[in-house]
Amino acid sequence: MAETVPHDLIIIGGGPGGYTAGIYAQRAALKTVLIEKGIPGGQLNNTDEVENWPGTEKISGSELALKFSQHAAAYGLEVMNREVVGVEPGLSLHTVTLDNGEAFTAHAVILATGGSPKKMGIPGEDQYYGKGVSYCAVCDGFFFRDKTVVVVGGGDSALEESLYLAKLAKQVYIAHRRDAFRAGMILQKRVLNEKRITVLWNTVLTEIQADAQGVNGVITKNTLDGATATLATDGVFVFIGFEPNNALVPAGTRMNANGYVIGDEKCETNTPGIFAIGDLKEKYAKQIVTAAADGCTAALAAAHYIENKKSGA
Ligand code: NAP
Repeated sequence: MAETVPHDLIIIGGGPGGYTAGIYAQRAALKTVLIEKGIPGGQLNNTDEVENWPGTEKISGSELALKFSQHAAAYGLEVMNREVVGVEPGLSLHTVTLDNGEAFTAHAVILATGGSPKKMGIPGEDQYYGKGVSYCAVCDGFFFRDKTVVVVGGGDSALEESLYLAKLAKQVYIAHRRDAFRAGMILQKRVLNEKRITVLWNTVLTEIQADAQGVNGVITKNTLDGATATLATDGVFVFIGFEPNNALVPAGTRMNANGYVIGDEKCETNTPGIFAIGDLKEKYAKQIVTAAADGCTAALAAAHYIENKKSGA
């Protein structure tokens, strides 16, 4: 719908951070719209079990995502299912442009666009994506029932997703480039005790191979002695971290060397009225609970910023 009155706040991205910001903004009576191009919850929908959301010992990622959106809806948050293609900061109002050319203005914008899975950049990875190469165990694990899969990575995501895949596949290999996991100890213990998981330490993949049916093997390389080997597998799941989705960050807004937005303790960037939260923001712990905390902080800070602007302070 065409905008008649500028918004107070536009939130871009509907993950845990974006929805939390939306809930706080509604409670602060800000005229707010949350714009999300995919389904509510973002990366949360790719997570099987969430076990560290306080107050809930275990909940599926998609169920928690649904709860976030229902909670925001209960406060009347306006949600638009569209893709944002541009954010243009202005002295008075910022302009947010959608893929259909429509434009909205707001006093403040919260960027909550999260991150996307990193790629290995090896031969076969792009070519066989969807034919055995995946970045989401919850989405694609079902296709590997009683089959063999290789998971790449040694962080929380790789281990969590390996445990999920071990419930379906007959054999899960974890290829990790060094001899110690980065993931938390609870996950490490579970993985090392899971009979269907074999860890290939000091191992990277150098190529993914396939036939007409899809992926049928990988070439591995030992990072210590350079020895290569072929390993038969039906699938390759890559969990080697995330890259920030920073394409909408306005020019001149400070980012670190890895492309994460630098914000202050209020999540405000050096571009006045532009806030960055969640996995897009430079910070120590990238967790659902810290994304939500950012959303709260940014919405409260935005409310204060907007109030000052409107009163001419
Ligand atoms: P991550 O913690 O950055 O771990 C990435 C893993 O991939 C590391 O083990 C890294 O190896 C390896 N790696 C990176 N680049 C590689 C390459 N080119 N080739 C081979 N291996 C490579 O990423 P993540 O596991 O996706 O987690 C992202 C963030 O979300 C983290 O802060 C994590 O704690 C959080 N998270 C938390 C939970 C939870 O609390 N339950 C669940 C999922 C994610 P090195 O170890 O050698 O660097």
